[in-house]
Amino acid sequence: MTETRLGQRKTKQRDTILEVIRSASGPLTVEEIHQRGQHDVPGLGIATVYRTLKLLQEAGLIETVILPTGETRYEPTELGHHHHFHCRTCDVVFDLDACPVEIPGGGSYPGGYIVEDHEITLYGTCPACHV
Ligand SMILES: [Zn+2]
Ligand SMILES: [Zn+2]
Repeated sequence: MTETRLGQRKTKQRDTILEVIRSASGPLTVEEIHQRGQHDVPGLGIATVYRTLKLLQEAGLIETVILPTGETRYEPTELGHHHHFHCRTCDVVFDLDACPVEIPGGGSYPGGYIVEDHEITLYGTCPACHV
């Protein structure tokens, strides 16, 4: 492969992985990104996915989401304040639009606590898994 062809392949891998993350309905695991990316980039390796995720993160285009279970997922940085719903049946994590917390950043919690931010993950069953 020539330098140019190699460069083009790298750009394609990067664009594909970014598009996979941007078009998802919630933060994705490395395995999910790898699986979906293979549709556009046949033969895409897991090591390439890890390397590309690091580059996209350094470029400020994506960020990690660490769930209370300790699992790391990736989402675009352009999303505003939002929360996640983790389906225990299919293990998919969805973005939620509504914020169920009544004390926003800059508010105060009784007892003199100044609230700067919060993170919430809701657990349960997603619409597709209701029987
Ligand atoms: Zn589900
Ligand atoms: Zn919130």
